[in-house]
Amino acid sequence: MSGDPVNLRVPGPTPVPPSVVDAGARPMVNHRGPEFNALMRDLNAWLPPYFGTDAQVLMLTGSGTAGLEAVVVNMLSPGDEVLAVTVGVFGNRFADIAEAFGVTVHRLPFEWGTAAHPETVRAAVATRTNLRAVLLTHNETSTGVTNDIAALSAAVRAGSVAAEPLILVDGVSSIGALPFEMDAWQVDVAVTGSQKAWMTPPGLALVAVSDRGWHAYNEARLPRYYWDLGKARRDGLKGTTPATPAVGVIFALHEAVRLMNEEGADHIHARHAALGSQCRAGVLSVGMSVFAAPEVASDTVTAAQVPGGVAAPALIAALRRHGVVVGSGQDWLKDSIIRIGHMGYVHADDIDRVTGALSDVLRAGHLEEVG
Ligand SMILES: *Cc1c(COP(=O)(O)O)cnc(C)c1O
Repeated sequence: MSGDPVNLRVPGPTPVPPSVVDAGARPMVNHRGPEFNALMRDLNAWLPPYFGTDAQVLMLTGSGTAGLEAVVVNMLSPGDEVLAVTVGVFGNRFADIAEAFGVTVHRLPFEWGTAAHPETVRAAVATRTNLRAVLLTHNETSTGVTNDIAALSAAVRAGSVAAEPLILVDGVSSIGALPFEMDAWQVDVAVTGSQKAWMTPPGLALVAVSDRGWHAYNEARLPRYYWDLGKARRDGLKGTTPATPAVGVIFALHEAVRLMNEEGADHIHARHAALGSQCRAGVLSVGMSVFAAPEVASDTVTAAQVPGGVAAPALIAALRRHGVVVGSGQDWLKDSIIRIGHMGYVHADDIDRVTGALSDVLRAGHLEEVG
C-alpha cells in the first residue's frame, strides 16, 4: 500500500488490492446464471481451509454482526441458557444479540486487555447443568487480544456436566489472517466478515457450521427467514444464494481469495505474526504502551495506550494529517487508546509509516498545535 495517499489502518474496513477493486467493479451477472455459479463453486472449495474445516462456508449478505445474529437465530431457542465469555466490546455484542432474541445469557467477563482464562471458563461451565451454548470471541478487536480457542473449547468440554454445549465463535477479525482450526478445536459455528482479514469490501458474513451445529439447527426454534442457514447451505451447494446477494462483493471476494491462495495460508499467517510484532515494537518505540497483555496481544489489531496528558481523539486527528487513519477506542477506552489495524492487505512498510507518523506527532509541542 505504500505510496497510497492514505494509509487506512482502522481494524475494518481494511485496504483492498487494486485487482480486487477492479473485480468489484465488474458489470452485473445473473446470480442464478453460470458465471455466478462458477464463482460460488470456486469459493465453496477455497474458503474452508482458512477456517480449518471440511464444512461448507456459507456466504450471507450482511456485515459481521449479521453473521453473529445468524448464529443466534439458527442455533438457539427462546429460553435457552448460554454462557457468554466476554473480553471486550464484541464479546458483549454477541451476548447482547442472544439476549435480544430471548435467550438467557450468563456473562463471564474478563478484565479488558486480558484473555479469557480456560480454568475459569471450565469452572463456570461446571456450575450449570443446562447450558446450550458457549459464546466465544477469537480476536477481540476492541482491546487487541486473541483468545486461545483450542484451550477454551477443551475447557468447555472438561467442565460440561450434561450434554456438551455448542461452541459458537466470533472469528470476524481473525479468520483469514490467524490460524483457525474449526474442526480440530471442535468449534460448532465460526463467523467472519469480508472487510476484516479478507482484503474485500464490507458486505459479506462468512459462516461455517459443524455437523453438530446442523443438528442444533434442526432443533432450534427461534424465528429465522433471511438468515436461515439451511437455505444458504442448500442454495450454496448449487452455486447460488436464497436471495439476491451482494454480487459485486462476491466478485471482489473471489479475486481476493485467489490472491490469498497464491500467497498461501502459511505465509499469510506468518506475515500477520510478523506485522503484529512489528506494530507492537513500533508502539513501544515511540513511548506508548500496548493495551493487551503481551502474551495474548493480537496479530491483526494493536490497541495502543496514549501517553498521559494526550487525548486519543487529538492524536487520531494529528495522525490523519499525516495520512494515517487509525481507529478510536470503543466504550470506556474512547479517550485512552487508539487501535491500529494490521490484517489483510498490509505489509511492513505500512506499519513503518504508522510508527513514523506516531513519532512525528508525539514530539513535544506538536500535538497541542493540532489537537
Ligand atoms: C468488526 C467485528 C464485528 C462486527 O462486524 P461488522 O462487520 O462491523 O458488523 C464483530 N466481531 C468482531 C470481533 C469484529 O472485529
